[in-house]
Order: sequence, then structure tokens, then C-alpha cells
Amino acid sequence: MGASSAYWLRLKAKMQQKKLNVLVVERDAGYTSASTVLSVGGLRQQFSLAENIRMSLYGYEFIKNAKTHLGDVDLSFQPNGYLILASSKGADMLERNSKFQNELGAHNELMAPSGLAQRFPWLCTENIALGCYGVNKEGWFDPWALLMGFKQQARAYGAQFVNGEVTGFEWNTQGGLSGALISSCDPQQPLRKVTFDKCVLAAGAHSGKVASLAGIGDPSATIEVLRTPLPVEPRKRYVYVFSTQGRNCPGLATPLTIDPDGTYFRRDGLTGNFLCGRSPCDADEPECHTLDVDHDYFDTQIWPTLATRVPAFESIKVQSSWAGYYDYNCFDANGVIGQHPFYTNLYIAAGFSGHGIQQTPAVGRAISELVLEGQYKTIDLSRMNFERLVHKEPLLEDNIV
Ligand SMILES: Cc1cc2nc3c(=O)[nH]c(=O)nc-3n(C[C@H](O)[C@H](O)[C@H](O)COP(=O)(O)OP(=O)(O)OC[C@H]3O[C@@H](n4cnc5c(N)ncnc54)[C@H](O)[C@@H]3O)c2cc1C
Repeated sequence: MGASSAYWLRLKAKMQQKKLNVLVVERDAGYTSASTVLSVGGLRQQFSLAENIRMSLYGYEFIKNAKTHLGDVDLSFQPNGYLILASSKGADMLERNSKFQNELGAHNELMAPSGLAQRFPWLCTENIALGCYGVNKEGWFDPWALLMGFKQQARAYGAQFVNGEVTGFEWNTQGGLSGALISSCDPQQPLRKVTFDKCVLAAGAHSGKVASLAGIGDPSATIEVLRTPLPVEPRKRYVYVFSTQGRNCPGLATPLTIDPDGTYFRRDGLTGNFLCGRSPCDADEPECHTLDVDHDYFDTQIWPTLATRVPAFESIKVQSSWAGYYDYNCFDANGVIGQHPFYTNLYIAAGFSGHGIQQTPAVGRAISELVLEGQYKTIDLSRMNFERLVHKEPLLEDNIV
């Protein structure tokens, strides 16, 4: 989100011939624990909120034409649909959402169990009432390549990237934000101060913590709006890579399939490997201090669903695994985008809760519109603002994976 915002800000400033210095502060130079590089890089239009659908439609256009925007990058985009499966309980919602998605420009079709069994012979349709299959404009790509593409192009347009950690903010005499304190990753180096006119807060899963450095969410704040926190925190998610030995295994055109219980899988490359995972329920959220993987979670929670849904997955073998942090918005599991209501020179782009990487092109562009033009010019994202947190009005998305 930070690299995309820098890219769009510099691109727009150039086009409008405006003078604008852009500095990106990143504490993890190798992005070792950034959600972006630990994600599975999926892109879908199967959402329920117009904003999420429109941002992902733009994400598709951008990623498909990445070379036009970012120069010589290879995002390894694999066009392939998502297949969301519903039991009788979720079928009405799936149907309603599909209609809405197609009205907005997505291209997916509903499939009854007989149609699913015919098209995907490896799938067991027991307890499935309906499926929704993305015919076009969905797939997955290499998240690292997208990040590097944004970063390189932002640099080529004049943005600067520095390695350091934001550890505090500075205020002007009117109580507004005027600068940030940056500690160097080298403990021998002194604390630096960076003054800014405007600041974009895009610290992924740690955005709530960084916002608290500016006093956002301080329960004793005299200014009422400052008592509302940015409710974005890390939630650990496991990804397991498995290989298959069974017969009638899902082939290359296998969609990213999501079971009604939330377990998902997709193919990874040409060699018969698959990725899979599932978000736990709130009560079972794992500890978040390390990125260690719980292998029992696969055996007890994921494998039984995989083996039931795809009988050929009965004999799979886990090859490797990793964990990453969802940038989780505990209030309504959706992005918080736009100006802070009190610190009006602070722009937030955080809390995307597992569907953020596909939205990076649209969010970076939206932030550049707000910063440089004072309003949204392309996709209206005003409902995703911070005010909804203050007024306790959740913007709920049906399809959080
Ligand atoms: C397992 C997994 C699977 C996912 N799958 C998908 C998917 O299929 N599709 C999809 O769209 N999304 C997916 N996501 C979600 C997606 O990865 C995120 O929504 C998105 O990458 C968020 O981008 P970001 O730039 O906000 O956060 P990040 O990529 O985490 O970047 C934030 C950066 O801020 C830096 N930072 C934090 N605090 C400070 C500080 N104090 N000072 C300086 N720097 C700081 C961090 O080092 C980090 O590099 C997945 C996530 C995970 C974990």
C-alpha cells in the first residue's frame, strides 16, 4: 500500500506538474514479514460490497496491463476463476452477490451441483447447494513482483525509500501532526526527525500500533474523536503447500476453490503442488508473537475438509508451509481508507483483512486523488472512511476468506 501510494503520488504529481517530495519509511528492508510477500496473491471479484468489487476490477485491469504501468515486470499472472461453494444456508447470498458482481462488470456464473460435478469431476458435491465460478477477470499473481514493480517505478518517478522505523510523531502548535520520529535499524545511528506536510499511514498489520503513536485511540484524549482507535492488528494465517499422488487430481485449470467452511486451495505452478489454508474462528486465533506454523492445524482442521471435498486429496503430503499476518480490521474486516477526521493531513490505507494485495493499485490511486485533488476521482471510497469507526457503523463484507 505504501509503495503503490508512492507510485501514484509521484506519477500524478508529474502529470499535474506539481512539486511533491515523497518519502517511504520501511523498517523491514527485505520485507521478510510484510503481509504482501506472505500472501497467496489472489484476485477475485466475488465480494458483496461495491467498493471491494470495483477496486478488484481495477486491480485486474492494472495487473493484466502491468508492463504498461510498471515497466519491465513479470507478475506471473495466472488467469483462473475462483469457485466459491455454498451449502443450502449460503446459497441465497451467493446468488444475490453473483448478480450484483455481474452488474458491476464481473463475469461469473452460478452452477448447480450437477453442473459442478460435470465441469469439475474431481469435486465431491455432497452438501453443496450452489457454486459460483469466475469465468473471467480472476486469478493469482506473484505478490513480490508487484511490490518490486511499484517500488522501482515509484523510485523512477522520484520517490525515495529509506530504511527505518517510525517510533513517534511530532505535533505543531495547533495540535496537528507535523513530523515523524524515525529510529534507524542500526542502533548506533541517532533518531531522525522527518517533517511532513501530509502523511500516509500504511503499516499493514501494525497500522493500529503506529496510529496509537499519534495518540489515535487514547482513551483519555480530550478530543473525543481521538478516543477511537484504528482497530487494525496482526492475525496469523497459515499457508500449507502440498503435493498430490491420488488419481483424478484437479488439473491445471482448477479454480481457487473455497469450501463452505472457509478452507481454500489452488494449484501452485505446473508440478502438481497446491496451496491451501483456512482462517480460524475468533475463539481459535493463534498467538501472534512469532510466524511459527502450527502443523496440527493442517492435520486436524484442513486435511479432513480437503479429503472430503476432493477424494483425490486423501493421500496428499505437505511439502512446506509458512505463516503471514492478515492486516485485520477487528471492527468490520474491511479496509479503512482516507483522511483521519481530526488529523486531516493523515491519510490511512490499512485493515484490508486478507483481501488487500489485489486492491493495492486502486487504493494507491485513491490516496493520490485525496492528497493531490482533495476528492475521489475514480472509485468513490468514501464509505470506507474512518468516520464509520467513530459512529460504530460497520461496513460488512460477506466474503471474508
Ligand atoms: C497468508 C495470507 C494470504 C493472503 N492472501 C491474499 C490474497 O490472496 N489476496 C489478497 O488480495 N490479499 C491477500 N492477503 C492480504 C494481503 O497480503 C494484505 O492485505 C496486503 O498485502 C496489505 O498490504 P500492506 O502494504 O498494507 O501491508 P504490508 O505488506 O504488511 O506492508 C506494511 C509494511 O509496513 C512496515 N511497517 C510496519 N510498521 C512500521 C513502522 N513502525 N515503521 C516503518 N515501517 C513499518 C512493515 O515492515 C511492512 O513492510 C493475504 C495475507 C496473508 C497473510
